Amino acid sequence: MRIDSCRKCGMELETNKKCEVCNDAIQFLCHKCGNVTDEQIHSVCYLVNMNRILLQTSVL
Ligand SMILES: [Zn+2]
Ligand SMILES: [Zn+2]
Repeated sequence: MRIDSCRKCGMELETNKKCEVCNDAIQFLCHKCGNVTDEQIHSVCYLVNMNRILLQTSVL
């Protein structure tokens, strides 16, 4: 995924949060104005993560 520039000030955004499953950036932060973009949920990764949690809880 490409990194956009801030909608408020036009500065390049930095990765604020990564997808736990595919390690792709899902949320961006602007250091200049503190603007944080909406988190992009990967529907496939979300399901994978859910399965992981289920597997973990069944082991415990
Ligand atoms: Zn993902
Ligand atoms: Zn900004």
